[in-house]
Amino acid sequence: NGTTQPRRADTDDKRKLIDSVDCFIFDCDGVIWRGDSVIDGVPETLDMLRAMGKRLVFVTNNSTKSRAGYLGKFTGLGLNVNAEEIYSSSYAAAAYLESIDFKKKVYVIGESGILEELDLKGIQHLGGPEDAEKVVALKKGEYMEHDEDVGAVVVGFDRHINYYKIQYATLCIRENPGCLFIATNRDAVTHLTDAQEWAGNGSMVGAIAGSTKREPITVGKPAEFMLDNIAKTFGLKRQQICMVGDRLDTDILFGKNGGLTTCLVLSGVTDEETLLSPENSVHPDYYMSQLSELLAVKEA
Ligand code: PLP
Ligand code: CA
Repeated sequence: NGTTQPRRADTDDKRKLIDSVDCFIFDCDGVIWRGDSVIDGVPETLDMLRAMGKRLVFVTNNSTKSRAGYLGKFTGLGLNVNAEEIYSSSYAAAAYLESIDFKKKVYVIGESGILEELDLKGIQHLGGPEDAEKVVALKKGEYMEHDEDVGAVVVGFDRHINYYKIQYATLCIRENPGCLFIATNRDAVTHLTDAQEWAGNGSMVGAIAGSTKREPITVGKPAEFMLDNIAKTFGLKRQQICMVGDRLDTDILFGKNGGLTTCLVLSGVTDEETLLSPENSVHPDYYMSQLSELLAVKEA
């Protein structure tokens, strides 16, 4: 129903929504937390949904941490979440490589989350934080060597991206047409702080797409790679799942592509004006100000 206008959920809609699904997939930043603070009413809402027997899953496109890293973040914020309920785009990259029985080495542009997830799958890697300080000297006649056993380049958000890493990744891909180019996600902007929008991983993926003239395989939202895994792990059909997110081009698109019920919250990057503007063609089934609005079904 991509053509119907999204509905601001009233109490009946919220009850209907909760009754119609067995599982909620939550995007993290903008739904559960903003940066390092929990959004108002989230702990109570998660408790209510758990008490109703719903399965809860948390999916983030932020690749800087591993699932274990996020478990620490949830716990630190006082949220009760199990390790199996967390899916990060760092994990998605490692799981994708495992799913194709990848046996070569990975060159990483990204932070420690990706390396930790590759380690857990026994996948060899180079790059990432170890290349943070490297510079290309550019003396006369100088050239860069690269490891010919690299069979994939994974590009995730990297606050220490530099020209060395860009050149290394470019060489791996350009010199070996069989080399995979994998993006953890392509978010244009991120909210590192509340003060402004910051360049997201889309900018880093764009650098490598630009130099190699190749398009990546994206494993984070809106790609549905993880949805099969979530449905299988929890024994669910897609009609039994609701995707809740703050972003139209990743979360809501992910849900719609997967045949899930979708709900947008306005506590993150999307405002009501953008949602309802004629330029927007990604229409969630429902929207509400923030997740804790679901608590209305308890009070009613
Ligand atoms: N990537 C980075 C680097 C981020 O900082 C964020 C949000 O803070 C995201 C992606 C988006 O994360 P999520 O999918 O949880 O909204
Ligand atoms: Ca988000």
